Amino acid sequence: MSIVDYGSDIYGIDLFEEGRPFRSSAYVIKDKEIALVDTGSSKSHQVLLDGLAQLELKPQDIDHLIITHVHLDHAGGAGQMMERSSQAILHAHPLGARHLIDPSRLEKGARQVYGEETDALFGPLIPVPGERVVAEEDEGILRLGRHTLTFYHTPGHAKHHLCIKDNVSRAIFAGDMMGIRYHPGYTGWDFIYGFPTTSPSDFDPMVMANSLDRLESLKPQRIFHTHFGTSEPASEAFDFSRKGVHYINELIKQLPAYVTYDLIYQALSQIIAQDLDRLGHKVESTDPLAVDLMLNSQGILVYIQKKEAGKL
Ligand SMILES: [Zn+2]
Repeated sequence: MSIVDYGSDIYGIDLFEEGRPFRSSAYVIKDKEIALVDTGSSKSHQVLLDGLAQLELKPQDIDHLIITHVHLDHAGGAGQMMERSSQAILHAHPLGARHLIDPSRLEKGARQVYGEETDALFGPLIPVPGERVVAEEDEGILRLGRHTLTFYHTPGHAKHHLCIKDNVSRAIFAGDMMGIRYHPGYTGWDFIYGFPTTSPSDFDPMVMANSLDRLESLKPQRIFHTHFGTSEPASEAFDFSRKGVHYINELIKQLPAYVTYDLIYQALSQIIAQDLDRLGHKVESTDPLAVDLMLNSQGILVYIQKKEAGKL
C-alpha cells in the first residue's frame, strides 16, 4: 500500500525512505491547482513519481511544491521534482528558501550529521532556480480552488519549519513539528507510538512548546505527519508531543554538567522505554527507533551546547 486516500482530495504517498515502508510520506492535494507537500530525499524521487502516476498525475501537473522544512528527508528531492514539474512554484519558509536555491550549506550540514552515509542515504541535491521559489511569510495564504492553505512559521524542530493549515479538511500538515508517529509497519510493534523529533541543529524545547500552543490555538481536527500518517483527533499528536517535550526537559535537568552524546543516548532510550512501559506496551528494546534516537540525541546535545555557550 503506497497511496492512502484521506478524503477531501488529499492523498498520502509512501516514499519508502531508508528503503522501508511507513517511514515518510509526501501529501498531494488535488484541486483546481495541485499541491505537493514535501518530496522526501532524492532517493525517493522515483517512488514519488510512481505515486503521482497512481494518482493519474504527471510531474507537469504539479502547480505548487510546498516544503515544510529543508531537512533532506523532506526536501532533498525538491530540485529533481522542480526540474520535472516545469510550471510549479516552490513555497518554503524564508530561512529555508535560500538553501533550496543554493543547497551547498544544506549538504555541508547533512554531512556533519550523517557523515559518509550522507550520499547513500539522501542522494544528490539539485538547486532550484530562485525565480521559481516563493518565501512564505507567517500567515501567508495559497488558494488552490476549494482548498485554501495558510502557512504558519513554527520553529522548535527547525528554524526554517512551516506548518500548513487546510480549510477543507481542517487539518495541519505538520512536517516534523508534531513529532513522529511510529507506525507498526516501521517498528514491528503492534501499536502506534508518538515522540517528538529533536534532530540537529535547531531543536529548542521551549520554542517547540510555544509552536505547539500556537498550532493548537488553530483548533485542527487532524494532523498529517511526514513520519507517518495521520493523528485524528489532533489532540493525540499534541498530547504525545507535549509529553515528549516534558520528558526531554526533565532529561536535560538531570544530566551531569559534563554531558556526552552517549549519555544522552542512554538517557533518552531509558525515557522512551519507561514511557512505553507506562503505556502498557511490552517491547524487547527501543532498537526499532535507533535512527531517531541517534538524531534526537545529537539534537539535544547541540541544544545543550548552544545554551551553555549563551547562544540561545
Ligand atoms: Zn526534520
